[in-house]
Amino acid sequence: MQYDPDNIFAKILRKEIPSECVYEDDTTYAFMDIMPRADGHLLVIPKDPARNTLDATPKQLADVMASVQRLSHAVMKAFGADGVTLQQFNEAAGGQEVFHLHFHVLPRHTGQPLRAPGQMGDMTAIAEHAERIRAALA
Ligand code: 5GP
Repeated sequence: MQYDPDNIFAKILRKEIPSECVYEDDTTYAFMDIMPRADGHLLVIPKDPARNTLDATPKQLADVMASVQRLSHAVMKAFGADGVTLQQFNEAAGGQEVFHLHFHVLPRHTGQPLRAPGQMGDMTAIAEHAERIRAALA
């Protein structure tokens, strides 16, 4: 399967469409999911093209995982979470909808289920959650 440079996350990286960024470094970018399944739900992606785990280089995976760990600590702190769920899907059959490698980072509280997928979030609340994450990283 080929990487499509017009996927929505490639457009976010090129700043062709807006995103609520919480962290970036030379090789990775982290931003809020617009359909959050938990408060603080964010996505971590490599800056260079990779469709998913199946075609990513070991270095891309290592860089993304380092940022995933950093952001996991940040959401634990920002939301007083009890745990963190990571999700990552590969190809349509594996549940992938956007074909640029991404990891979901979901802060979790004991006994609280995730919200259903596919529900657009409140952008004011998402911006406030992003601010909390940025503050936790500072
Ligand atoms: P997946 O490919 O992991 O199944 O799902 C893609 C994820 O990207 C979903 O959680 C969806 O809410 C999120 N998403 C889809 N389009 C956009 C967008 O334009 N901006 C942001 N920030 N997230 C998006």
